[in-house]
Amino acid sequence: MSRIFCIANQKGGVGKTTTCVNLAAGLAKVGQRVLLVDLDPQGNATMGSGVDKRTLETNVYDVLLETATVAEAKVRAEKAGYDVLGANRELAGAEVELVALERRNERLRGALKAAAADYDFVLIDCPPSLSLLTLNGLCSAHGVIVPMQCEYFALEGLTDLVNTIKQVHANLNRDLELIGLLRVMFDPRITLQTQVSEQLKTHFGDKVFDSVIPRNVRLAEAPSYGLPGVVFDPASRGAQAFVQFAAEMVERVGGKGDRRLMA
Ligand code: ADP
Ligand code: MG
Repeated sequence: MSRIFCIANQKGGVGKTTTCVNLAAGLAKVGQRVLLVDLDPQGNATMGSGVDKRTLETNVYDVLLETATVAEAKVRAEKAGYDVLGANRELAGAEVELVALERRNERLRGALKAAAADYDFVLIDCPPSLSLLTLNGLCSAHGVIVPMQCEYFALEGLTDLVNTIKQVHANLNRDLELIGLLRVMFDPRITLQTQVSEQLKTHFGDKVFDSVIPRNVRLAEAPSYGLPGVVFDPASRGAQAFVQFAAEMVERVGGKGDRRLMA
């Protein structure tokens, strides 16, 4: 049985993709079988895992349209250590095509169910919107991980996302819960960031992950080498923070061999 998590935040450039590829690599490092699902037509998580989005024969688009299974469409990201259900620009068209189809919210859920025995973790990198693609992610998942920068407007956007999660939970997917907020690109020298971080803990309590991801240039450089930062430079502060976050995730939600996965 796999546990399925969306990495979501409707803002762009907040660290979703960086979180997704590095958590995937961090979990793979501790022996978890991981599938990364790229739900963003930009295909950054695909490329950042070392898979060329331009040469993908089958990808998540085919899975959403039910012309391929996950097992058929996934590829191995050898160096990163996990499987990738990739995306490219084709996926932007799926959004329009899905509108006219039945079970349009649930296409991904059905496909992932069929692949559940092959993975301990499935991580879904969502696009920067609360679109039909994101909805497919939320309808498939057990939980949502929200990466966020501790900036002035951060809390504002969070309300919309939390409400969306509540609505999906109430109407479409009873399993869905907010797993946690991950503070990313954090710089403790900036007073405002420390203040927002404190506010977050006041409002969300233990929904704020203990792990904090620092701003670290090695994490930003890694995608151009087609590697998660965790693999590109394991000694870097950014990589170490993500390895610690992977351990925190396993502790919170269970992992291979954990009884919570057998339910
Ligand atoms: P999103 O997927 O939410 O759009 P990304 O993960 O692509 O966001 O991150 C946006 C930019 O910030 C990218 O250039 C990425 O390399 C950089 N970045 C993300 N996290 C960090 C970090 N902790 N330190 C430094 N740069 C980061
Ligand atoms: Mg992204």
